[in-house]
Amino acid sequence: MKKIRVTIWNEYRHEKIKPSVAALYPNGLHAKIAEFLGECDDIETTLAALDDPNQGLPDDVLNNTDVLIWWGHMAHDEVDDALVEKIRTRVLTGKMGFIALHSGHKSKPFMRIVGTNGNLSWGRNQKEVVWNLLPSSPIAAGIPDHFILEEEELYSEPFYIPQPDALVFGSWFEDGNIFRSGACFLRGAGKVFYFQPGHETCKSFYNPYVQRIIKNAVHWAVPADIGYELDDKCPQYKTKVIDEFES
Ligand code: ZN
Repeated sequence: MKKIRVTIWNEYRHEKIKPSVAALYPNGLHAKIAEFLGECDDIETTLAALDDPNQGLPDDVLNNTDVLIWWGHMAHDEVDDALVEKIRTRVLTGKMGFIALHSGHKSKPFMRIVGTNGNLSWGRNQKEVVWNLLPSSPIAAGIPDHFILEEEELYSEPFYIPQPDALVFGSWFEDGNIFRSGACFLRGAGKVFYFQPGHETCKSFYNPYVQRIIKNAVHWAVPADIGYELDDKCPQYKTKVIDEFES
């Protein structure tokens, strides 16, 4: 069986400087995500961090990634623009899916791929109810009509994303705010999913429904088998299409 090659990129800074985060995620958020993705026998994971050589994504890693998961927050600006361009191109040409988690809404790759600034309003940690808005989506498989996260960071509308191609989850927060917490975007030949839970001081990545959604999203984001090579150019057609039918 050909496995889905998932690279989990984590900024991996909060864990090193904040003991409460390190207590929750001693080997980093990315290691926790790899742990539960490892329960799927068709997935193999690679861990990548900002402070690794080549910011964790040398060409040989990026070019062998089917789905890239991204968690960043305090160091979005440090991510190399040339790397962001490589990620964007790989997604748009249908070679890789992209999943932005939580504060990844302001990451350079997410903003570059979907095309807006990803701004939102945020506030204190509180209870969140995640509602399943699209039970027919493969990303919602196994998820009930709603589930509760006892503590997550408040993210609120307005959320400056393009109109999603599918809105899979919407959330209600104790303070009364609502948020589009799980959204799909089709970009070029690639697929992008944004999912909101995952603040570094919260236990969301331990929640079985959050884990199931991320597993589902990985399977959904795998590039389609396009059957021909796409690149980032806009080629001139050198043969008449109709001749192929006549010959
Ligand atoms: Zn956060």
